[in-house]
Amino acid sequence: MNRNWLRALVRHLALLVAACLLVGLATQHIGWSLAAGLGLYLAWTLNQLLRLHRWLQGHAPGEPPPEARGLWGDVFDSIYLIQRRDQRARERLQAVIDRVQESTAALRDGVIMLDSDGNLQWWNHAAEALLGLKSPLDGGQPITNLVRNPRFFEYFHGGNYTDPLEMPSPIHDRLRMQVMVTRYGNNEHLVIVRDVTRLYQLEQMRKDFVANVSHELRTPLTVITGYLETLLDNSEGINPRWLRALQQMQTQGSRMQTLLNDLLLLAKLEATDYPSDNQPVALGPLLKAIRNDALALSGARAHSIIVEAEPGLHLKGSEPELRSAFSNLVFNAVKYTPDNGRIVIRAWQDDHGAHLSVNDSGLGIDAQHIPRLTERFYRVDSSRNADTGGTGLGLAIVKHVLLRHRAQLAITSVPGHGSTFTCHFAAVQIATPAPAS
Ligand code: ADP
Repeated sequence: MNRNWLRALVRHLALLVAACLLVGLATQHIGWSLAAGLGLYLAWTLNQLLRLHRWLQGHAPGEPPPEARGLWGDVFDSIYLIQRRDQRARERLQAVIDRVQESTAALRDGVIMLDSDGNLQWWNHAAEALLGLKSPLDGGQPITNLVRNPRFFEYFHGGNYTDPLEMPSPIHDRLRMQVMVTRYGNNEHLVIVRDVTRLYQLEQMRKDFVANVSHELRTPLTVITGYLETLLDNSEGINPRWLRALQQMQTQGSRMQTLLNDLLLLAKLEATDYPSDNQPVALGPLLKAIRNDALALSGARAHSIIVEAEPGLHLKGSEPELRSAFSNLVFNAVKYTPDNGRIVIRAWQDDHGAHLSVNDSGLGIDAQHIPRLTERFYRVDSSRNADTGGTGLGLAIVKHVLLRHRAQLAITSVPGHGSTFTCHFAAVQIATPAPAS
């Protein structure tokens, strides 16, 4: 193609020179004739260049380049071919984009595309229905301005999207949504919003059922254990054959009471996202009080329990909830550490937040059990649990309390050597109590 093009150019120029020479010979002015011929050729070339320039500057979409003869004609035709190819590729691409947008628009899940600053770029109809977004008014707005929920704000800016977030819809409290965020490209975000109202209602029914049953069982159980206590207080008149049975009934009765109390506490913790009382809680005195309770629980088993708390460390939150969570960890350490064992409770703060760890020199836990320990009624070894009198709900309570206090539980353990349960609180949970006036 290039050779043809070169040959045509040489041929044209040769023809022009030959024509000029003929005219020059005829007119006896070869020099002038050549100069005039080449001048004309230059003027024609410049004119074509100007036409091309004008076309490049301001052609309407799809408008073909100008037409010409000779070499410029070839150039314009090549540009036209490239233009057509480009147009066809663009049409194909647009068709693909249209199909993707059509199918995403028809999805029942909300799909939102955000730019790297978290501003809305594109979203489908379901996202409008679930989040109340308005098209095109909300385009370019930060998503956290439109979905005003403190949990969503924290989740979105926290950057840890491993687990989805569940929250009520901003347009209707009755609707429950599950939000999943995925990062892609240049730190852009894809947000998927799913309506999980039905699942949530079923889960709510299950929770209500457990809470109601626990509540209803409390009164009859109190009556039974009350009578058992009275009977045992007056055991002189009781046939000794029945005494042991009554004692066992009392032990199991109080175990059931602890179980019901734990179930009710869990139901209460699940009812709201955050504790209602957000007071500064001094960790030092709290841990000392828990240590005293743990020493009482240990009794003759003579554990050594050490508290190392950074002075003046305060956490924002609910004192009873934090006490219940930390007590569960420390009491577990007592329960699962052999007599005379050592338990160390530490509390400190650093750039990442506040931390509390309970370390014991006890039985330890096999790695395979660790991820499941916070599940309700999960036990490493049921025979181990039989003599400790645990309910199997202790670590589930710890997990829920920590969730409500923006904290996470980390468990490390070496079987046979001991375990460490560490609560990591976000820096926002550290409280600076007002100085006493
Ligand atoms: P439980 O009431 O049975 O103690 P938890 O939820 O508190 O229930 O604990 C779940 C299980 O985790 C326990 O049954 C026990 O096997 C194991 N576990 C908890 N804490 C410790 C610990 N400090 N050392 C060894 N095992 C532990």
